[in-house]
Amino acid sequence: MAEENIHGRPFTGGWVWKANTYPKIRCFLWQCLHKSIPVRGVLAARGVITPTLCPLCNIASESIIHLLRDCPQARLNWGVVFPFGVWSLWLWRNKVVFRDTSSQRSLKSETIARATEFAFLGVNGKVRRPVVSVQVRWLPPPEN
Ligand SMILES: [Zn+2]
Repeated sequence: MAEENIHGRPFTGGWVWKANTYPKIRCFLWQCLHKSIPVRGVLAARGVITPTLCPLCNIASESIIHLLRDCPQARLNWGVVFPFGVWSLWLWRNKVVFRDTSSQRSLKSETIARATEFAFLGVNGKVRRPVVSVQVRWLPPPEN
């Protein structure tokens, strides 16, 4: 008999156990799909007295879907990583096509390296570094 979710529909989370990642992350994903990670909304629904406001954005109630998809703080992270994945894939494809090379860093490594560099450099347009102006002028050499 197929496993069902709480709505009586067939559970479609079997892909989690095939995901190419660490076992602890597979378990975490499984818990997410079963609505069992202890975000504040889940704790409150189980009778734990706790504030339900999201600790990251302080805007909405912290549900699992809010944390993973809707939280403005989480959206920023997904928004940063995804474009680098697409860009890295395109560069890798072009390297294979135009340089006829099969040796390359892995796509995942390239994506993570580019996204990490971007995050550390703070070049996302939202972080403004202070501008330091240095005045330079020409002075004649001393007469002697
Ligand atoms: Zn939030």
